[in-house]
Amino acid sequence: MKKVLNFINGEWCESTTGKYTSVWNPATGEVLAEVTQSSKEDVDRAVEAAKSAQKSWRLVPAPERAEILYEVAYLLKQRKEELAQILTSEMGKVIDEGRGEVQEAIDMAFYMAGEGRRMFGDTVPSELRNKFAMSVRVPVGVAGLITPWNFPIAIASWKSLPALVTGNAIVWKPATETPILAAEFVRIYEEAGLPKGLINLVHGSGSVVGNAIVEHPGIDLISFTGSNEVGREINGRAGALLKRTSLEMGGKNAITVLEDADVDLAVEGILWGAFGTSGQRCTATSRVLVHEKVKEELEGKLLERIGELKLGNGLDETVKVGPVINRSSLERIAEYVKIGREEGAKLLAGGDVATGEELENGNFFSPTIFTDVKPGMRIAMEEIFGPVVSIIPITSLEEAVEINNSVEFGLSSAIYTKNVDRAFEAMRDLDTGIVYVNAGTTGAEIHLPFGGTKGTGNGHRDSGVASLDVYTEWKSIYVDYSGKLQRAQIDNY
Ligand code: NAP
Ligand code: MG
Repeated sequence: MKKVLNFINGEWCESTTGKYTSVWNPATGEVLAEVTQSSKEDVDRAVEAAKSAQKSWRLVPAPERAEILYEVAYLLKQRKEELAQILTSEMGKVIDEGRGEVQEAIDMAFYMAGEGRRMFGDTVPSELRNKFAMSVRVPVGVAGLITPWNFPIAIASWKSLPALVTGNAIVWKPATETPILAAEFVRIYEEAGLPKGLINLVHGSGSVVGNAIVEHPGIDLISFTGSNEVGREINGRAGALLKRTSLEMGGKNAITVLEDADVDLAVEGILWGAFGTSGQRCTATSRVLVHEKVKEELEGKLLERIGELKLGNGLDETVKVGPVINRSSLERIAEYVKIGREEGAKLLAGGDVATGEELENGNFFSPTIFTDVKPGMRIAMEEIFGPVVSIIPITSLEEAVEINNSVEFGLSSAIYTKNVDRAFEAMRDLDTGIVYVNAGTTGAEIHLPFGGTKGTGNGHRDSGVASLDVYTEWKSIYVDYSGKLQRAQIDNY
């Protein structure tokens, strides 16, 4: 059986515990590998390695650091198909989406490599004569990365690439469900020539390894993506230690369909947003706010199309919807369907664990649509993280905006309309970090900031230039070449 190891100080090694757990394919139930289960001592060693490596890495010119990132990009590109296959077998999303996700990491690698020659600060005039003023970015030190299973390489790339190009070292705990792809990504960094100790991979549970990263005094910042529950808890503990914490958490994203929308286009966006990755994207469409004048038409068209969504193993190119991550997730989704029924929502399609010969050993849930959902129902407020979407009727854009903004999350939102005035109003008023016009709630591009408002995040952003803010401190520098004491705000007034 394949063994997945830790990578600490440039060496692939087993944890001090000697214990292993299994990694399953969620579509087939097959065991893919055994992964080493780490302890606090493994985290200690990883932090020591990172601290020591970072001392010289911060002095390497950023364009030279970036050369390694270009190499990472080329290697990712060469292995795109192989990595996509691993991704699909480990977490279940269909192979096309797997390829798309690897492409996202490739894009991010090229983009962040470019930052090696930008990483702009400011030069500004000083208020005093013969004095020079500028600001530069400096690395924070050692970054602790804690990542989820649903985008196992894209999210890891959003965090690790900006951290490294800006001169930090990394201790990374990937999700328990996706250690194989994590190890492959680290192998690419190794092959690209990243000096030892700069990226350290420590496998294991959130409660042991994650916790040790959050509390380690040698880790200066935590970059976390995952659930609200865990993020909140990490924020409390890391905050008490005055660590910088960047949190990207859940969503309850809505597509608004106004009466003048292209309904067929909206149907495409809803099916892709709600059932792609089996609804397990943080940006998944889980509410549809549809104008009552086009509600019946939209429902009819969704019902016509939902039958086309073939369930199965995502490695089969004809499959449109893969499994959900594990049994407990399947049970949680079924529980939400039960809640929706009890709350009085009308089940339009799906609603059950999917069965069939080829689905027998996997975790499959039928694409599910509820309608006549009230905005205050639990299925309309809480993140389900499965292939379940709730249709809520509306009578105006104002009402849609109010409902859109009434949930605790603020990640993504979308509006379908042909009226440019309404579209701009929506862009202004939808309280989410990402807004789409005439496109569904998913599909972020890496050169823009990714993240959300309210309960989705704590003000930081992944990807884009904005991600540099997570991994750098600003240093303001004044150079006085007047040869005398010049007092700002005093000698010049
Ligand atoms: P999760 O349960 O919160 O886990 C995320 C990571 O945190 C995992 O590596 C997990 O380890 C670790 N962890 C768990 N408990 C911890 C603790 N006490 N201390 C430190 N680390 C701990 O989330 P998930 O189920 O993997 O992912 C789904 C969630 O992520 C959804 O809510 C989704 O919306 C969110 N998400 C958000 C974004 C975004 O950018 N906004 C993107 C993708 C996903 P284990 O694997 O060992 O549990
Ligand atoms: Mg979890």
